[in-house]
Amino acid sequence: MTALAERIARLIAVQGPLSVAQFMTVTLHDPKSGYYATRDPFGRAGDFITAPEVSQMFGEMLGLWTVQAWRHQGEPSPARLVELGPGRGTLMADALRAAKVMPEFLKATEIVLVEASPALKKVQEETLAAAACPLRWTDRFDDSLRDRPLFLIANEFFDALPVRQFVAADDGWHERMVTAKDGRLFFALAPSPTPGLIAAGTRGPADAGAVYEVSAAATALMEEIAGTIAVKGGAALIVDYGHRGEGYGDTLQAVRGHQSEGVLDNPGDADISAHVDFSTLAQAAQAAGAATFGPVEQGDFLTALGIVQRTEGLALRAGNQADVWNDLERLILPDRMGSLFKALAVLPPNTPKPEGF
Ligand code: SAH
Repeated sequence: MTALAERIARLIAVQGPLSVAQFMTVTLHDPKSGYYATRDPFGRAGDFITAPEVSQMFGEMLGLWTVQAWRHQGEPSPARLVELGPGRGTLMADALRAAKVMPEFLKATEIVLVEASPALKKVQEETLAAAACPLRWTDRFDDSLRDRPLFLIANEFFDALPVRQFVAADDGWHERMVTAKDGRLFFALAPSPTPGLIAAGTRGPADAGAVYEVSAAATALMEEIAGTIAVKGGAALIVDYGHRGEGYGDTLQAVRGHQSEGVLDNPGDADISAHVDFSTLAQAAQAAGAATFGPVEQGDFLTALGIVQRTEGLALRAGNQADVWNDLERLILPDRMGSLFKALAVLPPNTPKPEGF
């Protein structure tokens, strides 16, 4: 049992069971033992690999997409480019290098990295030390990011936001809680149903035992982003693994050392995430006045942006051509990251379809 699990069990003994969302927040962000707060989890030696860590082409494509969106909106100045949850800073480094094709964009744009983890902020500072433009960090999406056109990218960020889970029964939806006995953590259902809860969107009736996941944090954040874009202009590109909000299911998962494990097995030492519900995110963006496009599958999106041609160019200069093509396959093939990962774009109202959608 991890030190954090013991602390969580003591907390539950004192104040009662935690919602799954509260459990996620503590395990990911506890300042002393939280998963992100204390480590750099990426790469072969770490727990998982993300698209920008697979290939420089991923960040380059997202950077070029953003520059295009900025041009289509008449090259607003001043503008802002925000990345949510930049991990090692690799995506931003690749995006900024690609954006050099349009120096006016870099001149007009303030670059802000939103990162909650002090450990990862340090890694990002190192990765981006050579960036040709000034950077600033903040630990959350705050109001200082809402006063100008907002260009925003986020890869595998929304999946880390806390979800609550509800389980269907004859008398309504019972919240799934984390509780403790004799110092051991386990799941249990709240004895009474949650009053007034109705599953959103196109889900339809739920059989007993069906699991409904809701991320209030994701919806609220999307409303702020989309509200800013609707009023000030800009464009957001959200890439994550997720679904279109049909049906029900428990998507909460823990990953440690590239292996999946029980969500309660090693709190603080395993990454915990849930699939992103793209249709609820899109609805939140539309309710805030923005237009949305997608979600489209990552493979289709990157292919439409020309990643295959980019691979040909890179392969010509690469020492080992096979590596470059392997990386491409990993990003775009349906049985690799190409299908489960999806891209959603948020733009001002009445904007024509952006590239890749
Ligand atoms: N985008 C990166 C990293 C993805 S992992 C990549 O693709 O490689 C998730 C990132 O989001 C980490 O940097 C993590 O510390 C950060 N993060 C998670 N929850 C956050 C929150 N609530 N606020 C700010 N940053 C958060």
